[in-house]
Amino acid sequence: MSAIDDLPPLREVIAAHGLSARKALGQNFLLDLNLTAKIARTAGDLTRADVLEVGPGPGGLTRGLLAQGARHVLAVEKDARCLPVLAEIAEAYPGRLEVVQADALDLDPLTRLTPPIKVVANLPYNVGTELLVRWLTPRAWPPFWDSLTLMFQREVAERIVATPGSKAYGRLALLAQWRTDARIVMTLPPGAFTPPPKVESAVVQLTALPRPRFPADPGILERLVARAFNQRRKMLRGALKGLSPDVEDRLRAAGIAPTDRAEAVSLEKFCALARALEH
Ligand code: SAM
Repeated sequence: MSAIDDLPPLREVIAAHGLSARKALGQNFLLDLNLTAKIARTAGDLTRADVLEVGPGPGGLTRGLLAQGARHVLAVEKDARCLPVLAEIAEAYPGRLEVVQADALDLDPLTRLTPPIKVVANLPYNVGTELLVRWLTPRAWPPFWDSLTLMFQREVAERIVATPGSKAYGRLALLAQWRTDARIVMTLPPGAFTPPPKVESAVVQLTALPRPRFPADPGILERLVARAFNQRRKMLRGALKGLSPDVEDRLRAAGIAPTDRAEAVSLEKFCALARALEH
């Protein structure tokens, strides 16, 4: 029996099913169920929420979520080798775990989930940022989820919570902080995973704000920020040249000096500039 449920410890499960980790699928497994239960707790009260988990793998975090009382978990896993193990977990928690074999980038999970919805995942590094950007950039806000509790490489986590003037500040910080409260809630050493990755990891908690922090058109803001940070060392009057023939006037209208660089400009000013570019 394991520390948190009546199922066998994960090392035994992995050995019995021959689940050797595959690098191409970003597989670094969490085998300590006390730790996965702790991560599940950082997502808040799960008893009245549906949880979307991307990449359950052998199910360490899935078991943490279920042991913490998640009302319903939809687990989306690409690797068919994990399905028998996940089926055993589903059997131990009747009616509370649905497993779908799919690429999370192709699946629309919404038809299978009932709000309120929390997303909790130890993301595969190769698709983690792309999924995050998608979850942060729907046209309409609030999004389908109330909160995202996500494991990233620490360097990515730091880019999400970065403030102006720091090296990590850029597109990810602005997209995240415009519409969510984002903070790092846990850092983990490589040894917490099997096999250990080369770098540290961190769990980021993003809570959706009811409305964006400052008004701006999402499409304009996204294009603006992408362009501004594409050449982050360049002055904005140069980096944003193609956006508008009178970009210097619009920068000034937003309270930004045309000679400023993107890394020094606050979220509030980027939103003001997005509004100034609207007409
Ligand atoms: N949740 C498990 C844990 O914490 O031990 C495994 C985490 S591992 C970092 C990432 C998982 O995502 C792997 O099980 C991998 O097979 C799966 N995965 C990789 N790419 C995927 C994709 N595009 N869609 C769904 N799952 C994917």
